[in-house]
Amino acid sequence: MLYSKIVKMFKEIAELINNKQEFILTSHVNPDGDSIGSEIALHRFLSKRGKHSRIMNFSKTPENYTFLDTDGVIEHFDESKHVNAIENADVIFILDTNEFARLRTMAPAILKSNAKKVLIDHHLGFNKNGFDYYISDTESPSTGEILYKFLISNNESLIDKEIATALYTAIMTDTGSFRFDRTDSETHIITAKLLEYGIKPYHVYSEVYNQATPEKLRLLGRFLENIKLDIDDRAAYSVLYIKDFEETGTDEYATDGYTQYLLSLSSVLIGVLITQTKRGVKLSFRSKGSIPVSELAKEFSGGGHLNASGAFIEGGDADKIAKEIIEKSKKYILNN
Ligand code: 5GP
Ligand code: MN
Repeated sequence: MLYSKIVKMFKEIAELINNKQEFILTSHVNPDGDSIGSEIALHRFLSKRGKHSRIMNFSKTPENYTFLDTDGVIEHFDESKHVNAIENADVIFILDTNEFARLRTMAPAILKSNAKKVLIDHHLGFNKNGFDYYISDTESPSTGEILYKFLISNNESLIDKEIATALYTAIMTDTGSFRFDRTDSETHIITAKLLEYGIKPYHVYSEVYNQATPEKLRLLGRFLENIKLDIDDRAAYSVLYIKDFEETGTDEYATDGYTQYLLSLSSVLIGVLITQTKRGVKLSFRSKGSIPVSELAKEFSGGGHLNASGAFIEGGDADKIAKEIIEKSKKYILNN
């Protein structure tokens, strides 16, 4: 989206906030630091503007992000409890995803609601159907960064340490602690401004990443053990089966950050984590340079960013899917 269009949308969303009272904020299934951080920041900001705001998510908040929700405001979506509120909301913000399908069972109620739907997101493949207002900035490394720009354009004086911490967490996690490709000087300038609110980087990092348990490290051991290389060592993947989670006493949410080990192999251009779950097979794709794993993910009905994407296949066979991934990866690697 062009910068001028983004500025115009900021104005329209500001106007909408001025005129409305009941807000609901949501984000994608299996929320990450960018989803939770963006939700908490916007929720607190709206509350300080005297608005009534609620956060509702399909998934529970991962343990390592609960430190952001100091007041316990995030609600776990329950159809029987929440459908009315969704129907009666004035505005629904959908943060950090552009796909209604990734809102899972919340999607039908949101689509049906007469509330104005506002998207703030940075993923590829945006289609404006279903959204009344939208900021889709695929150049931005995080939704938190877009939101920061919106909040300062709206009322900078309302930003406080809690909001700054939530935005810092969003930016830190989605940039892989400031190392991914889209991290630029603007990201660092914004981060520097956020640090002025008194955030301690070590404190946030520690809350998010120093949360291992012996069980989780044993699962990591299995993941590393299961790594397979193919296509002249340029593709790496690892399959984790339901039994790996059962035997280590962990769950599928414990695999955050695993894909970085695949890309740490110097020859590897594409890395894939394949997770077998009770509902189906979850795929996490990562790539180096200009290899578009967003396209590879699309071949499995998923999507995402150029270098980080995913898909979910209901009831699939993990080993068969691993073979298909290698077959479909060849053209991206050989064309590179
Ligand atoms: P992760 O591998 O960390 O779960 O996801 C990486 C990126 O892939 C996410 O930021 C998101 O853009 C995308 N992604 C993950 N899972 C899915 C999915 O099931 N469907 C789609 N369309 N995108 C996904
Ligand atoms: Mn994000």
